[in-house]
Amino acid sequence: MFARSVIRSAGPLRQNFRSYATEAPKSSSSTPLIVGVAAVGAGIAGYTFLGSNKASADAPPKPSEDATHAAETTSAAKAFRGGDQGFVDLKLAEIIPYNHNTKRFKFELPGKDQVSGLTVASAVITKYQSPKHEKPVIRPYTPINEEDERGYVELLVKSYPNGPMSEHLHSMAPGQMLSFKGPIPKYSWAANKHEHITLIAGGTGITPMYQLIRAIFKNPEDKTKVSLIFGNLTEKDILLKEELEKIENEFPQRFRAFYTVDTPPESWPYGKGHITKELLKEVIPDPKSNNIKVFVCGPPGMYKAISGPKVSPTDQGDLSGILKELGYTKEQVYKF
Ligand SMILES: Cc1cc2nc3c(=O)[nH]c(=O)nc-3n(C[C@H](O)[C@H](O)[C@H](O)COP(=O)(O)OP(=O)(O)OC[C@H]3O[C@@H](n4cnc5c(N)ncnc54)[C@H](O)[C@@H]3O)c2cc1C
Repeated sequence: MFARSVIRSAGPLRQNFRSYATEAPKSSSSTPLIVGVAAVGAGIAGYTFLGSNKASADAPPKPSEDATHAAETTSAAKAFRGGDQGFVDLKLAEIIPYNHNTKRFKFELPGKDQVSGLTVASAVITKYQSPKHEKPVIRPYTPINEEDERGYVELLVKSYPNGPMSEHLHSMAPGQMLSFKGPIPKYSWAANKHEHITLIAGGTGITPMYQLIRAIFKNPEDKTKVSLIFGNLTEKDILLKEELEKIENEFPQRFRAFYTVDTPPESWPYGKGHITKELLKEVIPDPKSNNIKVFVCGPPGMYKAISGPKVSPTDQGDLSGILKELGYTKEQVYKF
């Protein structure tokens, strides 16, 4: 198993994973975590990412709503206003190829000077009436561009075979229209709301996590520490890895990403296989830690194994799976 091999080769993963507060920024974005943690070795022995004297001495500033809610504070008009606004039709302006099954879709907002109106964390829903189905297909997406960017929203969408919405998006051509509605509020973030957050993502489940990560690290007031555990089938399925590595290099003391893939390439320095109990035990701060939160977003099988499924958009459902077994409470976990 991955975690065991890391433990054998580089000491306890928990200690190593949380050790980044003492590490210097990595010089290369491709420097693998395991090399980094092995290299710092005994120098960081005893340091825990959360709850050490050092961590508690650096008490986070008071929560502030300001910078994480950029779209709320800007004077720009909002394309999505929630409430009874209904669906807004947006024109697809550009399609940018991303990888073997994923594309970026830039949709124009009705006004060039408008912002989307999304807050952190929130999503949009898209609606499409397929001739093959009686009812319209409605699916949530989390745009990957900044909330205060004007004139467009950008989606990163993976195509699922026989997936009605993703196949429709992938078949669209620039100039065509799609119906959007938002913001669909998710977890309302405020700077320093939690001391440490763990983000557990699978596949396209990274986009809500990326929205949170972007907001936290663009706000100088926000001192939240963030650990990301990101599972995928293969290395080429890992979305937004470059962007994540950039943030990790810039904020090595507060952000660490850990990747695990089912089929790793040769000399893969991260994890192999599914996100396991052993891995989560090593990475997430102890359930008794003060003010932590764990976020989960991924395919249904991942929810089932890790947190239990969400019942509905307004009902998080009970906590079950690995997080429950490890002693976390329902209040400590948010399912996107
Ligand atoms: C809050 C939220 C934000 C999302 N943001 C994005 C995004 O930015 N980009 C994107 O491509 N997708 C995103 N998704 C997933 C998206 O809503 C659709 O589920 C997906 O595009 C498949 O829709 P479909 O109609 O094509 O296929 P469906 O028939 O709905 O599903 C096809 C297959 O996809 C699997 N699947 C469903 N949801 C997920 C998921 N979240 N992760 C992995 N596999 C899944 C299903 O198990 C099924 O096997 C998000 C989901 C949520 C809940």
